[in-house]
Amino acid sequence: MIAAVLAVFVAVPLLSAEGAAGSSLPVDVTPLSDLKRRRLVVYENLKDLEFEFQAGKIATPDYQSLKQNYLGEAASLMAASQEAEHLKETEALLEREIGARRALRKIAPPPDYVCPRCGFENPVPVKFCGECGTKIGH
Ligand SMILES: [Zn+2]
Repeated sequence: MIAAVLAVFVAVPLLSAEGAAGSSLPVDVTPLSDLKRRRLVVYENLKDLEFEFQAGKIATPDYQSLKQNYLGEAASLMAASQEAEHLKETEALLEREIGARRALRKIAPPPDYVCPRCGFENPVPVKFCGECGTKIGH
């Protein structure tokens, strides 16, 4: 009885840690497609600006400062989408690794968890079975 309560008590932080890791999984706040679309808009604006400057509608200092703004925006959007792309790769890699580990755990649970006498699968590595109290492992 005490062993079972203890096992649950020990298991709780483990479970909540896993839950926290789960909730920190990718939330796509700035989709890559959105970044690309915004970059295209900036390039469109830049073209318009060029056109209006050629047409003599914009004074040179205005044109230059606006152009610098657009170019700066385009550069930061470019950097952001590169970062997003890199992040996606990292996340995919991480997810594969987590998936592989979960599969491994399902196929072969560590022997310390399972009671040789009653077959009870303890939620954490224990010295004594949480179900029947049999000494497990080493
Ligand atoms: Zn047992």
